[in-house]
Amino acid sequence: MNNNTSEHTITSSGTAGSPALDIDKIRELFPVLHQEVNGQSLVYFDNAATTQKPKPVLDALHDYYTSMNANIHRGVHTLADRATAAFEATRESIRRFINAAEKEEIIFTKGTTDGLNLIAATWGRANIQQGDEIIISALEHHSNIVPWQMLCQEKGATLKVIPIDGNGDIRLEEFEKLLTNKTKLISIVHASNALGTINPIEAVIKKGHEAGAVVVIDGAQASAHITLDVQALDCDFYVFSGHKMYAPTGTGIVYGKRSLLEAMPPYQGGGEMIKEVTFEKTTYNVIPYKFEAGTPNIADIVAFRHGVEFIEMLGRKKIAEYEEQLLSYAKEKLSEVPGLRFIGTAKRKVSVVSFAIEGVHHFDVGMMLDAKGIAVRTGHHCTQPLMRMLGIEGTVRASFSVYNTTAEIDRLAEGLKGIVKMMR
Ligand SMILES: *Cc1c(COP(=O)(O)O)cnc(C)c1O
Repeated sequence: MNNNTSEHTITSSGTAGSPALDIDKIRELFPVLHQEVNGQSLVYFDNAATTQKPKPVLDALHDYYTSMNANIHRGVHTLADRATAAFEATRESIRRFINAAEKEEIIFTKGTTDGLNLIAATWGRANIQQGDEIIISALEHHSNIVPWQMLCQEKGATLKVIPIDGNGDIRLEEFEKLLTNKTKLISIVHASNALGTINPIEAVIKKGHEAGAVVVIDGAQASAHITLDVQALDCDFYVFSGHKMYAPTGTGIVYGKRSLLEAMPPYQGGGEMIKEVTFEKTTYNVIPYKFEAGTPNIADIVAFRHGVEFIEMLGRKKIAEYEEQLLSYAKEKLSEVPGLRFIGTAKRKVSVVSFAIEGVHHFDVGMMLDAKGIAVRTGHHCTQPLMRMLGIEGTVRASFSVYNTTAEIDRLAEGLKGIVKMMR
């Protein structure tokens, strides 16, 4: 087993006993960062779409296929045991990472989209009836809109939307007005991928529960940046993707409270999710296996643990503090760019900066930055209804991770100034 995470020392002696993160050493762990793109050293600012992967994650993938590849759970042989142990070790890591009460409350999925669809297809189908109401927010990613729309269509239920204010914060007083005795489910994003807003999910969960609703949190943008404690939050479901937190694509989890998961019907039918099958009738396996039909994405899920442990090794508080510094530095530097307008100015944000440049299409800005080796995202960020509400088609988005630097932000600001000059 590869366990070289702990061999790396990632802190340097900083101030007052609390060593600061050593960003140069962190960067050494990410081979992909050390390359030229279009003749310039790469600046990767598309972390809200997916993060890069550190060596311990890459090594874990290689190690899995070279030392233990086998199908899990059913085998009697040694490799199957090893693979099963490594797979289940990730489940325990994630339990610890989000402070779930039991590891059986962690279901592996392909990612956030898969997780939200799982909840809609199981809890949703079993519990939502004609006339019921589901509440989401205006900040939602398409994957936290469409599954609920499909469910509402099927059941004759209604989808309601919490509006936002000019800064990109949800309007809590409007949320309270939307709650009725028909509200069965609230599904809301923890941190917005388009604007960065961190939602007051504690209040949403509390108010939702008072109204008798089940509360789902889309944590896709939160899991790499915010310390999570699902028991303290008391959310009913929490969902995220591995690939936005330094782990491989094709991995994710649904956390659900045991009582809810046990009462829910299965998601897909097939191997592993059953207890006994006859042609007449099938009885289902216990949680979490009831929701994990078929051979899962074993190798990537085994490596997922190393993404989680990478975050734990650095410390979520330290990561958050560093990213906060990057965010305020970016706000300062980018506000020097003529004609630049920030989109999303909430007080509490993850390290996402969305903006528009007067007279230059966001797509052109992205292309011209790419020519300078700078990777940003442009467009609607899978939040078309939000963009429509803001009266825009899209934004340019720079999103930061723990391996980014202020020097890279300087390059972004200079690049943007150059673009503005050229286009005028
Ligand atoms: C990325 C993202 C999703 C979808 O995640 P996938 O990994 O693409 O399934 C959902 N919600 C938010 C807020 C996201 O940022």
